Amino acid sequence: MGLPTAAYAAQYESAPLTPWQIERRDPGPEDVLIDILYCGVCHTDIHFVRGEWGSSIFPMVPGHEIVGRVSRVGSRVDRFAVGDAVGVGVFVDSCRHCSACESGEEQYCLNGATFTYNSELKDGRGVTYGGYSKQITTDQNYVVRIPESLPLDAAAPLLCAGITTYSPLRHFGVEPGMKVGVVGLGGLGHMGVKFARALGAHVTVISHTESKRDGAKALGADDFLATTDHASFEDNAGRFDFLLDTVSADHNLSDYLGLLRLDGRMVLVGLPGDLPVAAFALVGKRLSLSGSMIGGIRETQEMLDFCGEHGIVSDIELIPISAIDEAYERMMRSDVKYRFVIDMSSLN
Ligand code: NAP
Ligand code: ZN
Repeated sequence: MGLPTAAYAAQYESAPLTPWQIERRDPGPEDVLIDILYCGVCHTDIHFVRGEWGSSIFPMVPGHEIVGRVSRVGSRVDRFAVGDAVGVGVFVDSCRHCSACESGEEQYCLNGATFTYNSELKDGRGVTYGGYSKQITTDQNYVVRIPESLPLDAAAPLLCAGITTYSPLRHFGVEPGMKVGVVGLGGLGHMGVKFARALGAHVTVISHTESKRDGAKALGADDFLATTDHASFEDNAGRFDFLLDTVSADHNLSDYLGLLRLDGRMVLVGLPGDLPVAAFALVGKRLSLSGSMIGGIRETQEMLDFCGEHGIVSDIELIPISAIDEAYERMMRSDVKYRFVIDMSSLN
């Protein structure tokens, strides 16, 4: 006896997204019910809908960059009130008692976080459905507050693209003057540029297409490097302290590692699958190759407050939900500046 909710779903692998009705649970004591206003479109949605990671569950309602307003609260909710502007990101639950959860890194929950969509519910009663929908019921402990100074549509991508780039830049200590390369100028990449700049780094966009040069500069990047000509890897060898790799497709990691100086670090946030690495590329310069996944709830709130203070939001293209398949196609062609956001008023 839940709440009937309009949504868009992929009914099977690589299916077009079509209208579907789901049920949200009635808010329990700790839950807030959120009217979803906007939902960003992450490349992860494409990987999942197309079954690229082998773990997709259909029918699937994607979407994990959710912004809306609280429309109802449970009896024990003390962090939010009706009308508050709030966000839900990539996960909606975790075990709450493992060492990762206790240290506020719920995304690394040792017992497995429950992701916002495509996750089995802990009580065994089905799977989670994401933000391509009109409303969502979420435990208040997995909801964050959107600073009132930020436009809600352009804030939506902060819930995934924002925190996924902010977290490793902070965790690995990017600081003023460091030479940072952001690899791939898409949804994550353009947020990486904004945060690395805000942290005072010297930022270079490293793109596989020359066509992004002007856009990179307009975003505030200090420099631009196209890898269309392989010689650019040799010409720029040893130039960077830190690389943030946001690429969604196969690429040769060892080429990029060559751009780092002695003791440099490359952090992968892009998830194309297996990426082989030449041992000599790492060993020869004592390099570190790391990975990073989104961020915890506390850090997500910290990132949103940082965005509120610095006036940082995503550069977006607002679309009706009926344009979602075309948006996926355009993302595959890197034809987006720089994040599609679904206007949920287009869904009835
Ligand atoms: P996106 O907007 O589609 O951007 C991906 C970028 O990758 C493109 O704009 C393009 O940049 C670059 N690229 C594409 N094909 C390439 C190729 N063949 N060689 C080199 N570069 C290529 O995707 P997104 O939403 O930012 O997501 C990026 C990746 O991060 C996805 O794999 C996604 O699943 C993953 N992700 C991870 C996390 C996490 O927690 N770690 C969170 C969210 C998303 P240029 O045109 O500038 O080269
Ligand atoms: Zn995402």
